[in-house]
Amino acid sequence: MNTSQRLVVVSNRLPVTVRSTGINICLEASGGGLVNALTPILEVTGGCWVGWTGTDFHETLIESLEQWSSERNYNLQPVFLTPAENAAYYRGFSNEIIWPLFHGLSSRCQFDSTYWTGYRAVNRKFADGVERVAGNRDFIWVHDYHLMMLAQDLRFRGLRQQLAYFHHIPFPPPDTFETLPWRSEVLRALLCFDLLGFQTPRDRRNFIESLHRCLPGVQVSGVGERLRVRFEDHWSSIGTYPISIDYAALAAEATGPDVTAAAEKIRQGCSGTAIILGVDRLDYTKGIPERLIAFQSLLQSNPGMRGRLTMIQIVVPSREDIPEYMQLRLRIERLVGCINGEYGSPGWVPIQYFYRAFSRTELIAFYRAAHVALITPLKDGMNLVAKEFCASRIDNRGVLVLSEFAGAAAEFRNGALLVNPYDTERVAEVVALALQMTESEQCARMELMRSHIQSNDVFRWSESIRTENTASPPADYQRQKAALQYAAGLLR
Ligand code: UDP
Repeated sequence: MNTSQRLVVVSNRLPVTVRSTGINICLEASGGGLVNALTPILEVTGGCWVGWTGTDFHETLIESLEQWSSERNYNLQPVFLTPAENAAYYRGFSNEIIWPLFHGLSSRCQFDSTYWTGYRAVNRKFADGVERVAGNRDFIWVHDYHLMMLAQDLRFRGLRQQLAYFHHIPFPPPDTFETLPWRSEVLRALLCFDLLGFQTPRDRRNFIESLHRCLPGVQVSGVGERLRVRFEDHWSSIGTYPISIDYAALAAEATGPDVTAAAEKIRQGCSGTAIILGVDRLDYTKGIPERLIAFQSLLQSNPGMRGRLTMIQIVVPSREDIPEYMQLRLRIERLVGCINGEYGSPGWVPIQYFYRAFSRTELIAFYRAAHVALITPLKDGMNLVAKEFCASRIDNRGVLVLSEFAGAAAEFRNGALLVNPYDTERVAEVVALALQMTESEQCARMELMRSHIQSNDVFRWSESIRTENTASPPADYQRQKAALQYAAGLLR
């Protein structure tokens, strides 16, 4: 893409939240890294964001979206889903098949073929939306696993624009991927994109190995982080582009007096004890019960630490309509109750537990108040909380204890203390080491991570994908093709 090209962003959800107050509808800008990174670009280049509204068809909502668009340099193109479509495409295929499978938890998958049919149909519905708005020279950028079939649907309709796809979640190893009953269909559709971006070298490698395993005839060329793949006469560029955060905005907000006062209040609320912080959406991939068990083990094997440290665990409600998520919440709350009941003493509660979302300012205060961020997902595409914690540490203090299975671990090998989240006793030992780390070591590690995020922020991430050259196949292929054409001419 050249930077003057119009951008069309396609994601499962529009960058707005729809609130209905009786007959009135009100739209609120959604937060989050993706929205913050892409809306400034859309403002400059013009273009469109295509996505689900989170609702069924609604006449008044169309008017509100048009009003929203008229106040900006880009449009919102809504996709409306019926409850049945939502059940098959979103709750079914996306959340009960792809999400667990791609996080390596295939025993949780419900391989129901009606989910697949629904997923295909909704991807075609998104293609209708894109077709309606895309101009000839637009750069179309599709986000995440909800829309893996979209490029194929668009190519069938004759769209020839540049199509890029970014995969936000992990890509599993081939032994896991190949259990997907629709594995070849998904890979064939993904290879209709001109550019495919992954979070880590491991995800990219898993994708390439899955191609070799499931799509005979695929050709891969290139070395390192940028590869070219040829399948049925179409070339795709494949690369690693770790997503990031708006470092400057976060670091600036962390210096604010509100944040400083709130951080102080949090520390006082923990009676000056050392704070271990966990921040996660409610999800079985985040390893929250395992982390609580690690904390229990820390208290069990270090009686001297009791009363001298506090764990703050924030859990943001998510997918609450799915019974499995409700069961997870109950399990977490039971564990918190057990640990507090067993180890607490008058004046000291070992775990402060919050089941709600905090604002960005409040969250930064938690990051600043903590001594250790304990981020231990069983598997995670990236984990932005890890990056936000470091960006907020304007004092260059604090220790990041990070799961080796989070995407962020690939970038923080030298700064964070990496752990296997399943090895709860070792996690407890590493947290004990983190609490004893000297200030100079904390500083050296934190500076390393902060300067990495500063020079690899979310704007650089989006720029590197938008400016990636996807136009031509690699030079050796051009030469081979020229030779073949020459030979074919001689034979005629
Ligand atoms: N977050 C938030 N409020 C909270 C807790 C978290 O806004 O109370 C945000 C956090 O700032 C981060 C995002 O939620 O940007 C979580 O992103 P992450 O990549 O860590 O995990 P995900 O939920 O996307 O799997």
